[in-house]
Amino acid sequence: MATIAINLKDGKLETDAPRDLIVGIDLGTTNSLVAYMKDGLALAVRDDSGKSALMPSVVHFAPDQSVLVGVTAKEKLVSDPQHTIYSVKRLMGKSYKDVRDFEQYFGYQIIDEDTDSLVKIRVKDKFFTPIELSAEILKALKLRIESVLNQPVFKAVITVPAYFNDAQRQATRDAGKLAGLDVLRIVNEPTAASLAYGIGLNQDDEQTVAVYDLGGGTFDISILHIHQGIFEVLSTHGDTFLGGDDFDRAIVDYWTKQNGHEKDSLTGDKSLSQALRLQAEAAKKHLSQHPVYESVAANGMVCRIDRATFETLIEPLVQRTIEGCRQALHDAKLDVSRIDHVIMVGGSTRVPLVKSAVAGFFGKEVFDKLDPDEVVALGAAIQADILAGNQKDILLLDITPLSLGIETMGGLMDTIIPRNTKVPSKAGRRYTTSVDGQTNLKIAVFQGERDLVEHNRKLGEFIMRGIPPMPAGLPKIEIHFILNADGILKVKAQELRSGVEQEIEVRSQYGISEEEMGKMLLDSIQHAQSDMAIRALLEARNEAQVILLSADKFLRQNESILNETEVLAIQTLAAELKIAVAGEDKDKINAAMETLNQYSAPLAHRAMDITIAEAIKGKSV
Ligand code: AMP
Repeated sequence: MATIAINLKDGKLETDAPRDLIVGIDLGTTNSLVAYMKDGLALAVRDDSGKSALMPSVVHFAPDQSVLVGVTAKEKLVSDPQHTIYSVKRLMGKSYKDVRDFEQYFGYQIIDEDTDSLVKIRVKDKFFTPIELSAEILKALKLRIESVLNQPVFKAVITVPAYFNDAQRQATRDAGKLAGLDVLRIVNEPTAASLAYGIGLNQDDEQTVAVYDLGGGTFDISILHIHQGIFEVLSTHGDTFLGGDDFDRAIVDYWTKQNGHEKDSLTGDKSLSQALRLQAEAAKKHLSQHPVYESVAANGMVCRIDRATFETLIEPLVQRTIEGCRQALHDAKLDVSRIDHVIMVGGSTRVPLVKSAVAGFFGKEVFDKLDPDEVVALGAAIQADILAGNQKDILLLDITPLSLGIETMGGLMDTIIPRNTKVPSKAGRRYTTSVDGQTNLKIAVFQGERDLVEHNRKLGEFIMRGIPPMPAGLPKIEIHFILNADGILKVKAQELRSGVEQEIEVRSQYGISEEEMGKMLLDSIQHAQSDMAIRALLEARNEAQVILLSADKFLRQNESILNETEVLAIQTLAAELKIAVAGEDKDKINAAMETLNQYSAPLAHRAMDITIAEAIKGKSV
């Protein structure tokens, strides 16, 4: 007999049909995890052995073309490094230029044919994008949870670092699609970590939280303000090339030196350097619990290190993360005393020195009860559950870290969505054409804080076609920026008189690293004054061009009512303005414009009066 349940709150019937399962996925640099809600609790799915929920984010291509992912692939890092890909998250949405300085750390081959386009990874005679490789990891996670739950899974929430730009978010979404997953939401990792600790689930909560995330390859600190179920990222800071891998590298360098070898002298032998890397990682983990580690490497090298030495080696790296925390607080305009909770995320927060340094800086105990490797995936599962409608609706608000705008005349940046705007967000502005009969309009979208687009980053461009020919200034072109909750930008352009409409989803050619983003912001402050001067000059030139065009038009249309002296005077003043425009002095341009305007204004009135008089005459019977 079927049971019928009645919801006592709203009196509605509840069916017992299972709701669509949405899983939470943490697609990490070093490890990835999948989690789901079971009996109201978030649970990370463990591997077959039941020991660990971590799936190494490693993909191996076997000689028979088959693909291995996870622990078995990680084992191939030593025996077959050329065909084994790790840390692919670092390459998401990046160009070769972005990563070339770090190429030596990848055991595999990164293609550098075209330095401006997205990186590709060469495996034998095939080329793979980071999206395809991430999709392999996601497919493996999907299989893992499907076999445990014995049901197909099609929907997921995937987490990304809070500073990921639209290209990186889009790439993550695409990887999900390739893996056969409908990605319902891209969620910020710190937001997920807070949810895992239950912060924000109570609407009355008001808290300010610092999420310190030190993983294998990246460091992120985010300051969140959580109130009435709204998660607002006040600031983020971080380093895309700082993490546990660097601790491992410091140990490898130390052993290399201890054994009398030159620094980096072993990197030529990819197998040996990978073996040492793995051994260093084992040493580091061992030192989280014990005072000394000792063993012998495959080439006979003695590998010994004690905790005090390890802490001396990593002290500068840990200090860099503390500086990041200081910066994030500064950006959020908060004193350290305003932080209510500090949440630890990422495997590297197990290092005792990291814990004590963070607790010391914030002056309070840190949240570390949940497994720091699982906390983001658990939070993603909770978010998935909210989306599935199983929990009360919680709104997530993030911010866009850099301004978004379009290029206007003279290469000026016209900001449409300013930095630090909460997303999702929508903004629009009206533009027009600058030339008579113009039917196409190029819309180039940029990201950055500088006044001139050449100093900002181009995200993409499109040509709006089919504008009906009209005199300059008449078309009304509305450009809308729609930034969705994932931070992905859609640009819509519409000519209001004719209804011609065009829309694109903006994908930047390559991503922005946290350092680059910081640099762009710093540049904008340092160059603010010179930018302002250039902006004023360009604006004067733009205005002058418009006046010159209309003066020319005026002369052509009103030949019959102007005498020779007047024509000559306008031509001379226009020529003087042209000379001023060619120069660099905005005051001269403005003065020349003023003179031309003052001279031609009464003539324009006269022309208008005559036109009106003729029109009236024409109409009279
Ligand atoms: P994640 O990217 O969050 O998966 O973090 C993985 C990083 O945490 C790797 O660098 C691991 O070596 C490191 N890690 C994992 N367990 C420990 C441990 N017990 N002590 C120190 N580092 C660890």
